[in-house]
Amino acid sequence: MEKSRDLLVRATACDGMVRCVAAITTDLVDEASRRHRASPTVSAALGRTLTAGVLLGSLLKDTEKVTILLQCTGPIGGITVEADAHGNVRGYAKNPHVDLPLNEKKKFDVRGIVGGGMLYVLREADYYRTGLFRDPYCGSVPIVSGEIAEDVAYYLTQSEQIPSAVSLGVFVLPDDERFFRVEAAGGFLIQTFPGVTNDVLRNLEASVMAAPYVTEMIRQGMGPREILQTALGEYAFEILEEKDVRFACTCSPERARRILAALDPEELRAMLREDGGAEMTCHFCNATYRFDAEELRALLPEGDSIH
Ligand code: ZN
Repeated sequence: MEKSRDLLVRATACDGMVRCVAAITTDLVDEASRRHRASPTVSAALGRTLTAGVLLGSLLKDTEKVTILLQCTGPIGGITVEADAHGNVRGYAKNPHVDLPLNEKKKFDVRGIVGGGMLYVLREADYYRTGLFRDPYCGSVPIVSGEIAEDVAYYLTQSEQIPSAVSLGVFVLPDDERFFRVEAAGGFLIQTFPGVTNDVLRNLEASVMAAPYVTEMIRQGMGPREILQTALGEYAFEILEEKDVRFACTCSPERARRILAALDPEELRAMLREDGGAEMTCHFCNATYRFDAEELRALLPEGDSIH
């Protein structure tokens, strides 16, 4: 069976009273897991959050970005995910290597690794796309579940006042070379707007409840359209958008150099003296940028020398 590629479908149903998005994120979650050398349980927690980022990103305006931040008390320490409206997402966990045994249902103990704390969602104009700073919109809720899908649904329903159902999943398999790999990841989001009838609400609740795990649907070969149809039950939907989604970071050697160039010359001199160069690692994608002594010296003010 051919593996489904990473893909997102955004749609509307019930005369616009229902908004729905589904995404397959297997490859991007696998890439994040690999880049951060994340443990299986962290891969599940980070992968669910990356998938939530992709889903929320699809609801943004063209030039906005969304940040999902979990400041949590569990061993993972925290999760940061950033997504734009074009299917790009990146993210990291504070402690990627911690792990926990499977829970009593033989599933990853995401709740255990996340613990309590706060979930923040920030929406702001993407500075790199617009060159404009605007006050971000920020909402927050306490982490009520720790399983992430329930927390994102709680945030959307409570803080943004849009009744929402969210399902997120990551499934991994043992792998000879890498210990494990992400075999399936994805999720869906269903939101209802004022005017929706009680009948529709009841039926949607029932079809969402009856839907199999999203990773089970993906492993059966379903794409985002089939996942949406399963979640929506009897209701037909109209597709508004279908697009690729991917792990993508905005860091680059040039950006790393600009950060160094903005440092105090005294700090650059200290780096030259003590380390003979500089090394910077991007939190989001774990890429490392190295600058040798000559490159550092070039960033010092003209005529400056080191003794
Ligand atoms: Zn990066």
